[in-house]
Amino acid sequence: MPTDRDPSNHRPAAPAPPAGRYAPSPSGDLHLGNLRTALLAWLFARSTGRRFVLRIDDLDRVRPGAEQRQLADLAAIGVGWDPPVVRQSDRIDHYNAAIDQLTAAGLTYECFCTRREIQKAATAPHGPMGAYPGTCRDLSDTERAARRAEGRPAALRLRAADTEFEVVDELHGRYRGPVDDVVLRRGDGIPAYNLAVVVDDAEQGVDQVVRGDDLLPSTPRQAYLATLLGLPIPRYAHVPLVLNSSGQRLAKRDGAVTLADRLALGDSPGHIVTALAASLGMTGTSAAQLLPVFNPAHLPNKPWILDPDGLLPVADNP
Ligand code: GLU
Repeated sequence: MPTDRDPSNHRPAAPAPPAGRYAPSPSGDLHLGNLRTALLAWLFARSTGRRFVLRIDDLDRVRPGAEQRQLADLAAIGVGWDPPVVRQSDRIDHYNAAIDQLTAAGLTYECFCTRREIQKAATAPHGPMGAYPGTCRDLSDTERAARRAEGRPAALRLRAADTEFEVVDELHGRYRGPVDDVVLRRGDGIPAYNLAVVVDDAEQGVDQVVRGDDLLPSTPRQAYLATLLGLPIPRYAHVPLVLNSSGQRLAKRDGAVTLADRLALGDSPGHIVTALAASLGMTGTSAAQLLPVFNPAHLPNKPWILDPDGLLPVADNP
């Protein structure tokens, strides 16, 4: 155990090299859309000499066993990572410290609104569409005490001074989007996703965020939060999603879409990588083979419409 006299205690920690990441929510098995995004995140990171880290976003729904299966599936398609795997549920103190920092700067307030009340209230006249209308922003101390006395669980919100923020995305270019009084700590006391992701990326040395483009609209909020916390804003690449044949986001009910489903049909992990690569305009049967040919400039900018029944005729593939 190091002591105060141990010289290693006084050595400044060497900064970890920058990293890319994949951050699945352990709510179920990864489907081909998730695997494709993970493969892309890995290719972006490894082709630029970055570390690649995994973070398990387990502040919400957790299905027992899902995390282990997700890790096994990523490994099976050749998406390896630099340990340790980080779990958000182990990091609540870090999120609370960031929330305390914002509170000390006068940038938070308690919100007692229910979801239904927020939906019913008109959006603030100058705020972005769908933004929190600011009902609890300027409650007096007496009003706040009265709400507390009613036993309403309070969420903690950011007191945002801006209504828009611009980020730069490698695939979408400059993207300007709404910034509102985002929830930092939910009514149940759990830190909110938008806050946690910002703290985690900064502390894990993640300077490259590659994820599905359904998350692009949340990105200005996250970058804005990073700025308020004095944290660096990562580079972003929001990649097109995989959709089903009706144009909806791919889901488990769309057929044989998980690795386990595909293996049960006789596909191999190599088949899956081949199909994912083909959907990205690349040829290769393993993640390692794709690395030297990966070029973000050649990525398709449209979603991949997937028909699981026609994914790959098994006989034609490696
Ligand atoms: N855990 C989130 C999801 O699975 C992704 C978070 C992120 O990439 O920032 O949708």
